[in-house]
Amino acid sequence: MTGRRPDARCPLRPDQPCTLCQLDVTGPQDCPLVYLVMTDEELWAGTRQAARSRRPS
Ligand code: SF4
Repeated sequence: MTGRRPDARCPLRPDQPCTLCQLDVTGPQDCPLVYLVMTDEELWAGTRQAARSRRPS
């Protein structure tokens, strides 16, 4: 393989890359904050709504 793997995006801030801001994570796949938010219906709905409102119209 020759291509560089793209940086993972933070699911909580989809317009930004994962900055490994949580302790002992290797990316969104093992981020406890992402797990917490994505498994809570209200938190996830709020996160998606906030992401939509940040998009340029
Ligand atoms: S560690 Fe988790 S919360 Fe932090 S930027 Fe990466 S995915 Fe987002």
